Amino acid sequence: MPSRAALKLVDRACPGCGGTARVDAHTFTDHSVVRCTACGFVYLPVAVDPSVFASGDLAWENASDIKTARQRKAKPLRARLDAATRFRTKFAKKTPFDYLRAAFKGKTELPRIVDVGCGAGHYLETAAGDFIPFGIDISAALARVAKEKFARRGGDVLNLSSLEGLAAFQAGSMDAVILRSYLEHESEPKPLLAMSHRVLGEGGLVVVKVPNYASLNRRVMGNGWCGFRYPEHVNYFTPASLGRMARETGFTMRQSFFDALPTSDNMWAVLTKA
Ligand SMILES: [Zn+2]
Repeated sequence: MPSRAALKLVDRACPGCGGTARVDAHTFTDHSVVRCTACGFVYLPVAVDPSVFASGDLAWENASDIKTARQRKAKPLRARLDAATRFRTKFAKKTPFDYLRAAFKGKTELPRIVDVGCGAGHYLETAAGDFIPFGIDISAALARVAKEKFARRGGDVLNLSSLEGLAAFQAGSMDAVILRSYLEHESEPKPLLAMSHRVLGEGGLVVVKVPNYASLNRRVMGNGWCGFRYPEHVNYFTPASLGRMARETGFTMRQSFFDALPTSDNMWAVLTKA
């Protein structure tokens, strides 16, 4: 793990309510995950300067592999058990396109969809369906690859931070925002949702997939839960805390029982621009 100085860690207030009073919820050897005593939100009380993720060892294209290998070495049994029980997630296999296809049925113009943190664009590239793909990614190398793919379909990719990228798109110009395995990384999730609201047209949707801190597996695995990733994961949402943040940024959240199964490590939610 790079030193604290190399990561440019900065202190962080509660992303839910802005409060600074907190208690330790999970203590690890080199850091703690805390719970806000005012609103109950669970979060990492520090965040890495986003520029650190733009290239090098902690860039998105490298970090996950490093973490998985490191975790496997440190806790072989736990990590292996965790991998062995991944079949659970198959029960709730769903993609944002299941929601979007239904929502955009009958729309005459092609829907415009922006994938925040799109990486090399694999996700929207492989998704079947008629829509125009847009993306934002802070990694210059990945954004370049995605831009080439999306441009062929009339879309575009911005090599900016997510907030800057959403600000650069015209207000009301998008039909959907995809936050797939993204919001847990965002040090400013509330402004990010507010910016998503701005970029969406009337009735626009945000499709969210995040680790579910309220999941059964988190309670069973404790500090060994696969959702804990330091320093990449800075927010630990529950259905309740995600719903509250959605309401406070102008959305109505829809989440069925199957979108947040207690047996899945992740949850889905659809936020509609109110
Ligand atoms: Zn709070």
